[in-house]
Amino acid sequence: MTLTVVGSINIDHVIRLPQFPRPGETLTGSDYRIVPGGKGANQAVAAARAGATTRFIACVGEDTLAQSLIDGFAADGIDTAAIERIEGINTGVALIQVNAEGENSIALAAGANGRLTPEQLSRHTEGLHCEQLLLQLEIPLATNIAAASQAKVQGARVVLNPAPAQSLPDELLTLVDLITPNETEAERLTGVTVNDDAGADAAARALHAKGIATVIITLGARGVWLSEQGRGQLIPGFKVKAVDTTAAGDTFNGALLAALQQRQPLLQAVRFAQAAAALSVTRPGAQTSVPYQDEINALLE
Ligand code: ADP
Repeated sequence: MTLTVVGSINIDHVIRLPQFPRPGETLTGSDYRIVPGGKGANQAVAAARAGATTRFIACVGEDTLAQSLIDGFAADGIDTAAIERIEGINTGVALIQVNAEGENSIALAAGANGRLTPEQLSRHTEGLHCEQLLLQLEIPLATNIAAASQAKVQGARVVLNPAPAQSLPDELLTLVDLITPNETEAERLTGVTVNDDAGADAAARALHAKGIATVIITLGARGVWLSEQGRGQLIPGFKVKAVDTTAAGDTFNGALLAALQQRQPLLQAVRFAQAAAALSVTRPGAQTSVPYQDEINALLE
């Protein structure tokens, strides 16, 4: 049985600048890079590298970079049969400016990700015959709802990483078995401020009240708040020297599902996922920072 990821693919264009340009201003930066990104893609790559049999349902555009992205996923062992090229549109794009403080400012164009509609999804329903379905929020909401309800009928575990932060209808939340917000996302979903254990516990309870059995709130370097049946606990993260936290959450999600596919108990799977995410923050970039199964196991030994 497999993991299916339904989600986004982006091409990230990254420029480092001394500071963000003001309106009307042109600033010369340095170190321009084009790198593969998108939460769906990052999480599919993280799952595959952590050892999961992974299918990816997604859309790219007509541009020349699209095929090299698909070739990259295939090289990581991902089943790419349900990644379609859509005519007349570009692959999703993120224009990322990074300032001297390491903060970023991002402009997104959804491009082909916006064409991953419920109709497009229905061309790949065999992909929803899966053991686990992993979703994020960079494709149309209606598609996430359709994917979650179909996978649920097949008896799959539906996992939602509710990123980027937004409020969500109960129509989607009631289909979710496991949710993995960070602090900001948890606050957006529940209205509860998450800046300590009590806040995390209250936010987790609000999500349980929507019918979600397992809540994992990621807390950056602190680790995660894991809550099942209303009983929550802090699971500390690994102490590492962070260089670039881009895709920490994506790595956590992919690795968590890989561990669950390998039938690890939840607590052990969370530890595995935190080890993977800790490794990713010690390296620059998004998909470039995602570790492989043997590296994760080496950190756990
Ligand atoms: P997101 O990237 O979605 O905002 P977080 O920042 O909460 O997510 O990070 C996800 C997970 O990555 C954390 O729960 C933790 O396990 C790991 N992580 C993030 N930052 C660090 C860090 N500085 N040191 C060690 N682990 C980290």
